[in-house]
Amino acid sequence: LFAAPWEFQTSVTDMAKLPPINANEIAFAGRSNVGKSSLINALTGRKGLARTSSTPGRTQMLNFFVSDGTPVSIVDMPGYGYAQAPKDLVDAWTELVFSYLRGRPSLRRVFLLIDSRHGIKKNDLETMALLDKAAVVYQVVLTKSDKIKPPALKKLIAETKAQLLKRVAAYPEIIATSSEKNLGVDELKAEIARISTL
Ligand code: GDP
Repeated sequence: LFAAPWEFQTSVTDMAKLPPINANEIAFAGRSNVGKSSLINALTGRKGLARTSSTPGRTQMLNFFVSDGTPVSIVDMPGYGYAQAPKDLVDAWTELVFSYLRGRPSLRRVFLLIDSRHGIKKNDLETMALLDKAAVVYQVVLTKSDKIKPPALKKLIAETKAQLLKRVAAYPEIIATSSEKNLGVDELKAEIARISTL
């Protein structure tokens, strides 16, 4: 599944420009700085494939990545939760993301990235509400798990699971990862491989 090299396909800022559907899609979402680019790079084995846009004013885009012969595309959704983000930008994010979530029948799952040090924050809950409303299945992936001790990670996983059970479209299994230490990356790949055949 991950044999062929991953390539950047396209970036879109509006729904009219989405690439034609030719594969199942999985998407990655999370607060800015959660470690989304690092995880996509670890997953695809290509450093620099996904890049961070740490400046909040930057155009918000959905980035599509494809791999020859792989029956799944990876979609990098714009980060959210910038401290200084003006309301216009937040509204534009919500508009783009929600129309994509609602209007893309090939979207199989959203991996919602949560920083192991911070747990679920208010804007993560807002994103979950959007996903619930769009009825898109989402799965929490904890990032930077190397940053906390194993007992704390265990506790975080249990608490996060309890929160997810109360939600509509959440998938109750959590994957803990560290791009830095290459932990959980194979587990995530295996999950994606399963999804790609759905
Ligand atoms: P993005 O904004 O969500 O795309 O986040 P990045 O992937 O750019 O990562 C944000 C910061 O977190 C960078 O300084 C990364 O080096 C760091 N980071 C990302 N993944 C990990 C990880 O697994 N472990 C640790 N310790 N740091 C990480």
